[in-house]
Amino acid sequence: MKTRIIRINADRPEKRNVERAAAAIRNGGIVVFPTETVYGIGANALDAKACRRIFSVKGRQRDNPLIVHVSSMKMTEEIGVIPSRYREILKRIWPAPLTVIVKSKDKVPKVVTAGLDTVAIRMPDNRVALEMIRRAGVPVAAPSANPSKMPSSTAFRHALKYFDGRVDIIINSEQSKFGLESTVLDLRNFTILRPGVFTTHDIEVAFGRKARVNAVTRGADGAAAATSPGMKYRHYAPRTPLFLYTGSRRKLARVMGSSKSRYAFIGTGDLCRSLPISKKNGMILGEKSDMKGIAARLFDALIRLDSLNVDFAVAESFEDEGIGLAIMNRLRKASNHSYFSDAKGLLILLKRYGIDINEDNQV
Ligand code: AMP
Ligand code: MG
Repeated sequence: MKTRIIRINADRPEKRNVERAAAAIRNGGIVVFPTETVYGIGANALDAKACRRIFSVKGRQRDNPLIVHVSSMKMTEEIGVIPSRYREILKRIWPAPLTVIVKSKDKVPKVVTAGLDTVAIRMPDNRVALEMIRRAGVPVAAPSANPSKMPSSTAFRHALKYFDGRVDIIINSEQSKFGLESTVLDLRNFTILRPGVFTTHDIEVAFGRKARVNAVTRGADGAAAATSPGMKYRHYAPRTPLFLYTGSRRKLARVMGSSKSRYAFIGTGDLCRSLPISKKNGMILGEKSDMKGIAARLFDALIRLDSLNVDFAVAESFEDEGIGLAIMNRLRKASNHSYFSDAKGLLILLKRYGIDINEDNQV
């Protein structure tokens, strides 16, 4: 199919162009649009047929429900039951990179909620997205704009590479400000299902209570790792094997010194500069003091990684705190829980992934 590319100014969205995207949504089309978290691939959330198309274009499992994006509290209450004690709070903090899980109203098609009796709702903090939803006059179901299991799009060029010829419209607008998907908070048991840039601290300040963060959210669990020691389940994942370094920062250069394979590094500038690799293969996300910047550049690095032609990549670990919790959640999945902290651990991973190792690798 022919995909229309529509350029829309992020600060002053051109009415005519927004209307073209909104009309496509109303008519059952699929529109890739910018948000402050990542680009979304959206359709009218009340149109089951259009939403089914999202699943097939993404290759998304039908048991993975979609987030429904709204432009007003009125639209929110049309699709979900917001507990009265949270209504004013949501009014105050939205639009924001926070998705809430609440009881679903009947008009939301089952394909959107994957058959659950709950629905995920968010008001995105992006003018283009908000204007498009408002003009469409319907809530917009939109998962992240990436083929299932691949890193999410944080810029128009990523979305174009993934979906040109496969959706009705791709909006060409600004880069995603935050670059990680929204925090998902289940309002029924006040538990974080997915960490994001709206941190546990932000939630505590806004709601006056602490959210629960379970082991799976931290990613520190054995569950996923234990059941898939191989390569069964990947997410946010580049094709290039990605290994997460969990050892001390001081030792990394020494640990990598034993590797003769070509590798890339993803992490902070100071650690990157300590490694014996070419500039091209060092993907600097930012400095340690700038966790927001690191989050914003992560998916771009993961997407670019596959064009570097290296045997594997190493990503730096961060503390599971604040935005670090969200970054580590993505890195653990992107690396398929492949961790190493010393030269021996690296060797084990290289062997497991069948990466050519020569005698110099023997440690
Ligand atoms: P994506 O939009 O692709 O980044 O993914 C949306 C996330 O929200 C996924 O992790 C879903 O499993 C989660 N989600 C959406 N709806 C629900 C729901 N009703 N209950 C629990 N999780 C949900
Ligand atoms: Mg996604």
